[in-house]
Amino acid sequence: MVITLVDQSAAHFFDSLTQQCQLELVVNIINCLHIERGEVVITAGIDVGSTATKAVIFDGTIRSMVIIPTGWNPKEAGRNVFLESLNQAGLQEQDVDMIVGTGYGRVSLSFIDKKVTEITCHAKGAKFLFPQTRTVIDIGGQDSKVIAVAEDGSVADFMMNDKCAAGTGRFLQVMTGILDITLDELGQMASGSEPVSINSMCTVFAESEIIGLLAQEVTKETIASGIVHTIAKKLISLTSRVPCLAEITFSGGVANNPEICTILSSILGVRFNIPKQPQIVGALGAALVGFDNPKEGENG
Ligand code: ADP
Repeated sequence: MVITLVDQSAAHFFDSLTQQCQLELVVNIINCLHIERGEVVITAGIDVGSTATKAVIFDGTIRSMVIIPTGWNPKEAGRNVFLESLNQAGLQEQDVDMIVGTGYGRVSLSFIDKKVTEITCHAKGAKFLFPQTRTVIDIGGQDSKVIAVAEDGSVADFMMNDKCAAGTGRFLQVMTGILDITLDELGQMASGSEPVSINSMCTVFAESEIIGLLAQEVTKETIASGIVHTIAKKLISLTSRVPCLAEITFSGGVANNPEICTILSSILGVRFNIPKQPQIVGALGAALVGFDNPKEGENG
């Protein structure tokens, strides 16, 4: 149909493209037509987390995504990640129709139009990436959660562990500090090793317990495996209270670690969808909330 609108040489050029390129060209032409009519909705989602601050620019597809450390100033991190995401998308602030904030630090953002909980955003983001998602498991820096997702993408139920650091990314960070290894090495060492039992669920006591195990010359591999099993124990207690229907999408920073994903999947006896960038699921969900309701600016 597009070919009939253009001249012969353009038609030859179009024919010479691969099917994928043809599709992208048509999508771009349609977008340009929409832009001329002022119809394209562009939204930003900003997720200010305890450890990392994430932003996604969305216009029907993901235009850009950025992850930076939150540091000590969540307000500044939120602003910086937004500006960088605009920069990467080649946009100006005024091009964005709606900015939605989520994450624990969303309250500090004064330039956003709407605030939404991480629970809603993770459900929405996961459903966009994997449309058959019925459960989201999210392990971030300071909490872990299991979210039951209804067929329409809304939250049916959820359970969150935000009282105890065990079962969170922060727990892993502290433990890798004691073992003097990186997070990636933790997963590699845990893989295929028998776990030592770590009985303390409190991070401070678990830290002392691991120092004791090292003194007894228990191998780092065994301890690494024990640490990942501690995360699994916490997850099992959450999943026992929320129905865990397939498909299950795993989001949050810990899902960056393929070995940890494999171990958790085998202990829980379930398969996960793992996004390519599991940390941006919440920011993506926030951008989608704006995209679905671009005129609705009040806080939710
Ligand atoms: P928050 O939103 O609370 O900042 P994120 O979902 O951004 O949390 O995840 C941050 C957490 O992800 C950090 O605590 C870190 O421990 C964990 N993390 C990031 N990369 C890895 C990795 N490769 N292996 C294990 N954990 C990781």
